Amino acid sequence: MVPANKFVVNAEISDTLSVMRSLASLLVFCTVLAGAQAPQEPIYYLLWFDTEDYITPASDDAALRLAKELDQLGVRATFKVVGEKARVLEKRGRRDVIQALAKHDIGYHSNNHSIPPSPSVYLRPLGWLEGAAEFERREGPGARDVARIFGQTPSCYGQPGNSWGPQSLPALRKMGIPAYMDEASQVGLNQQPFWYSGILHVLNLRQFSPRANLNRPEDLEEGIRKFDAAVAELRQRGGPGFIQSYYHPTEWVTTEFWDGVNFRHGRYTAPADYKMPQARTPEATAQAYRIFLDFVRHVKQTPGIRFVTARDLPGLLADPVTRPTAAQAREQFRTAIDMVGAHSAADLLLALLGVVPRQVDGPSERVPTTVSAPVTRVKFEYAKRQAVEHIEQTGRLPSHVFVDTATLSLAGLATMLAYDDGAAAVPVREGKLAFERHIAKDGKKTFDWVIHPEGFDGSALLELGRLQAWTLKPARLRH
Ligand SMILES: [Zn+2]
Repeated sequence: MVPANKFVVNAEISDTLSVMRSLASLLVFCTVLAGAQAPQEPIYYLLWFDTEDYITPASDDAALRLAKELDQLGVRATFKVVGEKARVLEKRGRRDVIQALAKHDIGYHSNNHSIPPSPSVYLRPLGWLEGAAEFERREGPGARDVARIFGQTPSCYGQPGNSWGPQSLPALRKMGIPAYMDEASQVGLNQQPFWYSGILHVLNLRQFSPRANLNRPEDLEEGIRKFDAAVAELRQRGGPGFIQSYYHPTEWVTTEFWDGVNFRHGRYTAPADYKMPQARTPEATAQAYRIFLDFVRHVKQTPGIRFVTARDLPGLLADPVTRPTAAQAREQFRTAIDMVGAHSAADLLLALLGVVPRQVDGPSERVPTTVSAPVTRVKFEYAKRQAVEHIEQTGRLPSHVFVDTATLSLAGLATMLAYDDGAAAVPVREGKLAFERHIAKDGKKTFDWVIHPEGFDGSALLELGRLQAWTLKPARLRH
C-alpha cells in the first residue's frame, strides 16, 4: 500500500480519480458476472495422426496403442493413413491395428507419401485440369485401398510434408473426399476453417495448432501453455472456434523421420534397400506416451472443448453455396474484388452475372486485358453472355472474355459489372484481386521439405492457388 501523504493532489483531481476507480471496479464486477453467466461458445478440437511410416514395424504398434489409449479416455481421433501404410498393415496381418484405427476416424494421407515424385513435384509442371487428372490418377488408387482396408471412405486428405498443389482439390471432390485437414502455410484464412475450391479446409491454423512435443517433461508444460493460449484467444474473439493438434504414431518409436532416412531430397530407394530410422529407447517411448496422454487429459478437462473428427466437419459447418444479392456484389467489387461475409468473390460474381448460385472453380489461367476503348452496350452484353456460358458449361470461371478479338480479364469484367449503370458505353476498368493476399508468396519457403529437391520452388503452384482464391471464404457453423 502507498502512504497517502506521499502524494499532493488537489481535491478536484482526487474526486475524478475516485470516480474512475469506482467505474473500474464496476467494470471488473460486470465482466466477472458476464463471464459467469454468458453461455460459453463451444471450441471444437481435432486430434489427428499422420499414419505414414510403412518402414518401421514398431510404428504399427504405436498406432495401435494410441488408438486404444484414446478409447480409454473416451476420445476419438482421425488417423490419416497413407495408401502404402494401409497395404503394408494388411500384408503384415495387422488386423488388430486396422480394426483399432477404424473405430476412430480414417482420413487419407496420399498414396506413397515420400516415394518420389511427391505431389508438388508432379503437379508443378501441370496446369489446372491436367494436374487434377494426374492427382486423381496417382492418388486415387491409394484412397481406394484405404477405403477397402478400413471399410470407410476417407473423411479428409492432408498432403505429405509441404507437398501442396491446388489441383488436388477438384480431384478430391471427384474421389468423394470432402475435407482437407493439415497444417501448412500455402493458403489460409484467419487461422480458422474455410472453403476453397469446394473443399472444406482445416489448414494453416497456426496458433490454433498447439501440440506438446514428446521429448522432454518440460514439453508438456509448454504444450499446455500453448493450448491454453489458443483457447483464451478464441474466447476473446467471442465466437466458437477450432483448435487442432497433430502427431505421427512413428514419433513414439523413432527419433528421426523414416522418409528423411530413405528418400532425402526425393532420392528413390527400392524397398529392398530401406533403412530403419533411429529407434527411441523404451524409456523415451514411455515418457512420450505420458506427456501425450497428460496433454490430451488437459484438453479434455478444459471447459467448452468438444472433440470432433474430420468426419464431423461437413455436419458442423454450413454448405458452401450462398446467395448474395447483386447489390452486395456491386458494393464490394467497387472497393475491391474480395469475399464479404460468408460469400466468396466467385459467389458475388455469379450474382452480378445472374447465374444460379453454385460451387464453381476459379479460372485456370491468368489472361490480361487488351481492350482499351470503352465497350459498347451490345458488345458488353455479349461479353457477359460469354462468361455465363463458360460457367454453365465448365463449372469454372473464365479467365477472360472477348470484345471483338481483344481480351477483357475476369477482374476487369467483374469491376465493370460492379460499376455498370446501363449507359451506352462501358468504360474499361481493372480490378484489384484482394483475395489473393491469402495465398503465400514465397515459393521456396512454403515448399521447403526434406523430401523435395533442394531449393524446390513451388511458385507456379501458388499462382494456380491465387487463381482459385476466387472461391475462398470462411466456413461458418451450421447454427
Ligand atoms: Zn506425413
